[in-house]
Amino acid sequence: MSDKSKIEWTDATWNPVRGCDKISPGCKHCYAETFAERFRGVPGHPYEQGFDLRLVPEKLAEPLRWTKPKMVFVNSMSDLFHKDVSDDYVERVAEVMRVANWHTYQVLTKRSERMRDMLNSNLSELATERHVWWGVSVENRRQGLPRIDHLRDTPAAVRFLSVEPLLEDLGNINLKGISWVIVGGESGNGARPMREEWVRNLRDKCKDAGVDFFFKQWGGVR
Ligand code: SF4
Repeated sequence: MSDKSKIEWTDATWNPVRGCDKISPGCKHCYAETFAERFRGVPGHPYEQGFDLRLVPEKLAEPLRWTKPKMVFVNSMSDLFHKDVSDDYVERVAEVMRVANWHTYQVLTKRSERMRDMLNSNLSELATERHVWWGVSVENRRQGLPRIDHLRDTPAAVRFLSVEPLLEDLGNINLKGISWVIVGGESGNGARPMREEWVRNLRDKCKDAGVDFFFKQWGGVR
């Protein structure tokens, strides 16, 4: 979206795709949808079409123009592995990350099966580069934990988990092969609560497994 991100664990956001649709409970209060829909119908606005998915090829070269190294969150307003983004377009995004290798990229998805399949085929070379971090969202046990297995089943050099919003205790989570974990509660109107013991359990599991743990926020209505 810009080179000045407000997301704490990243410096810049880059959105060569805009828009998405909901796939699991973690999407219920999607901040990207809320933001995008505010501008639906505003002529000339980047989100004139609201949260409808569309490719933005004119954004593809943006990281090549940022000369100073940044931590870049890829598709903060979408999901790169959405079914309506063609393999060819994902490969074009990947090519920019391969060439503009002075940045560190964080690619986060809920479509972990497609990411797994592409990291094992078309994107296998990029997967092993340490300047691209591949991550999955984990909001609960049912949908979230299988995504970790999909991520583990890739040749990614750096794997991370975005556990946000954490909606329940993740129990005996397997963190083998994971480099770091970000945890946060949901914010804003209707925010679903996150219990302290769920966070403590995850922190302790990270500690036992030697995985870096970043606690982002408790969340809440305010
Ligand atoms: S996958 Fe991400 S961007 Fe897409 S609707 Fe869900 S939370 Fe929003």
